[in-house]
This record gives sequence, structure tokens and C-alpha cells, in this order.
Amino acid sequence: MNIHEYQAKALLKSYGAPVADGVAILTKDEVDAAVAKLPGPLYVVKSQIHAGGRGKGKFKELGPDAKGGVRLAKSADEVKAFVDEMLGNTLVTKQTGPAGKQVNRLYIEDGADIDRELYCSLLVDRTVGRVAFVVSTEGGMDIETVAEETPEKIVTVAIDPDTGVTASDVKTLCEALKLEGDAAKDAERLFPILYKAFVEKDMSLLEINPLIVMENGRLRVLDAKCSFDGNALFRHDDVRALRDTTEEDAKEIEASKYDLAYVALDGNIGCMVNGAGLAMATMDIIKLYGAEPANFLDVGGGASKEKVTAAFKIITADPAVKGILVNIFGGIMRCDVIAEGVIAAVKEVGLKVPLVVRLEGTNVELGKKIINESGLNVISADDLDDAAQKIVSAVKEA
Ligand code: ADP
Ligand code: MG
Repeated sequence: MNIHEYQAKALLKSYGAPVADGVAILTKDEVDAAVAKLPGPLYVVKSQIHAGGRGKGKFKELGPDAKGGVRLAKSADEVKAFVDEMLGNTLVTKQTGPAGKQVNRLYIEDGADIDRELYCSLLVDRTVGRVAFVVSTEGGMDIETVAEETPEKIVTVAIDPDTGVTASDVKTLCEALKLEGDAAKDAERLFPILYKAFVEKDMSLLEINPLIVMENGRLRVLDAKCSFDGNALFRHDDVRALRDTTEEDAKEIEASKYDLAYVALDGNIGCMVNGAGLAMATMDIIKLYGAEPANFLDVGGGASKEKVTAAFKIITADPAVKGILVNIFGGIMRCDVIAEGVIAAVKEVGLKVPLVVRLEGTNVELGKKIINESGLNVISADDLDDAAQKIVSAVKEA
């Protein structure tokens, strides 16, 4: 689960991280009160969407010459003018895709005098099984570009869970970021704070880009992206309360209600599969035969008929879906349950696109019988290869 920048900053502030004063607003009426709370005279108006690259982003409605999604304002009047322009409009950034995202919240923040912009993130480094800091002096820009062009400028420091962030870790990080004096002192406090917040809140990613050295030599968290491990959300009511479903895919929200592992994708073949590995293989083989999957969907091991019905409805509700492939290996899952779920869903929502079903495993004969006797127009397939070829050609012919 992701949260907005202003929420991430409030969280980090509660741990003692140096964060600027700021106020989030949802409507234009709140601007005056927000500005009155800030020291001025420099303000920054920041679009709050769950995507990065906002500074260089463009508003769809405002044309190519208008300013981006993060704007520096030199007076309260300028803040107001920016809020008028930005709120409610659609911001397109490198990370939103061409459709962009509507800006429903703005964060008005105290402007900082920046000397240097650094990059600092924490993530779970699976190769060493530890939380690791990834830092670079090249902050403010795309870290992917830095990784590609100047990988030597990225330094990774994995933290031993037994000790937490040690003095030696801090020294390595400060050297990598060329931090001295007050900035190094701030860093000595900041790095353990970030690590503590990351571990305590079960984050999967905390990215501060940029972390800045201000002209007065002090450090400040200027941007914050924070993602949480969905499997640990049950023990963090405070984090769950920060969820903004307007930022999420409606189909994914619906799927999460039924505990389905679902990710929307750009293709046109809807997939209903059990098991993450089989789901990945199904997506791969669809691509191999020249088409693109519309989603990743793992209905799970012990899915009920209701769950299968919900899954099928989510797939058919997507107008981009031009064909559906049901690929089930019945181990714990029984093929007859899948068959009943599919039929129940089709009866409810209808079937306007070709459907290929491949069943194998427990109760496979019963499953096939249920489908064959249902009178539905289902193309049956014998194995994964056969199934993928059949759905790809059915979609191409349609
Ligand atoms: P994004 O990464 O989505 O583009 P950032 O929060 O990183 O958004 O902002 C983009 C740039 O805007 C930063 O790299 C920084 O140069 C500038 N900026 C952001 N917030 C402030 C601030 N409070 N004061 C001064 N400059 C800022
Ligand atoms: Mg940024």
C-alpha cells in the first residue's frame, strides 16, 4: 500500500526526522488558513498523487508551457494562483502513464534554500536478507537513470538486524553522501530514525529523493515516498487509515475485498489462474504467442465458489478484456469448484468474449462435465500451451 508524500512526511516527523512545515488541502477555501500557518516568504505547492516525477510532470488541461506539478511560489498570492490552476486537473508524469492522475490534494510547504540534493532510500535487499540503505549524491533526479549511467555513484549499505544502524554504517553513508559538519550530525540522528520507522511500520520501500543539504548546512527530508507491506497491514491501524482508494485501481480494490491477488495490466487477455507461479507462467506464455495479459490474478489455493465468481466478474468488467483464459491446476483447489464459479459468474454477467478453459488435477473430469453440460460457449484446452494458443487466436479472430 502506498501513501501520499504529506502523510509519509508526517509519519517521519513523528519519529523525529527533519521535515519542513506544511499543510495539505483538499479545496481552494483552505489556502488562506494553510499559508497563514507557514513562515513564508517562500512556499512550495506540491501535487499529491501516488506517482513520482511530479516536478517535471505536465498538467493535461494547461498545455505544454505551463509549470509542472511541484511549484515554487514567492508570495501568498502566487500560492493561491497555483492552487487555482492545479487543483482538480490531471497531472501526467513519467510514472502515471499517458492517462495521468487527477490532483485532488495539494501540499503547501515551507520553501527550502537548497545547497545539494541527495538520494536516500531504504528497501528490503533480498539478496542479503536485510534492510538496506541505497544512497547517492545524485539526488533530485531519476535514480534509474543514475543506476544506468553512473552506477558507481550509488552506494548500498545493508543493516544487521541484530545491531540496527551502527556508527560504522553512519560513517559509510556520510562518506558516500559527502556529509560533513552539521549535516553529518543531522545524519547521525536521521539514519537510525529512518531505519526504525521502516522496521516498526513494516515498510517495503522508503524513498527520500531528494534529501537535501540546505544552505545553512542542515539536512531536510524534501520528498518522501513510502510503501507498506500489504501482508503486515493488519497490525497497523494507523497506516491503514492513510489509504486513499481514489489513487488505486477500482478493480484492484474490488479484488482486495475478496482477498484475491490481482494486478491490472495493459493487455487484452483476462487471466484467471490459481497459484502465483502458474499465473506468471500463464502471462509468459500469452506473451510468447504474441498477445498481452490484461491482468495478473491468483485466486489462491482454497478459493470458494463466491471468490471465483467475484474474480470472474472483475475480469469481465474490464472493457479492455477481449478474451478470457481460465487456467487451473486443481491441487488443493478442486476443478469442479472452479467450473461452478465460472458458470455462476457467466450466468450473472453474461459472456461477450471468447473463453478458453484449461482444467487439470483434482476432480478434473467432474469440472469438465459441469462446463460441457452448462451449454456455455467454452473452448476447452488440454494443456497450458494449447490453452494459450487457443485464446490468442480466438482474440485475434474476434
Ligand atoms: P517529484 O519527485 O515528484 O518531482 P519532489 O518533491 O522531489 O517531487 O520535488 C521536485 C523538486 O522540487 C525537488 O527536487 C526540489 O528541487 C524542489 N522542491 C520540492 N520541495 C521543495 C521545497 N519545500 N523547497 C524548495 N524546493 C523544493
Ligand atoms: Mg522527488
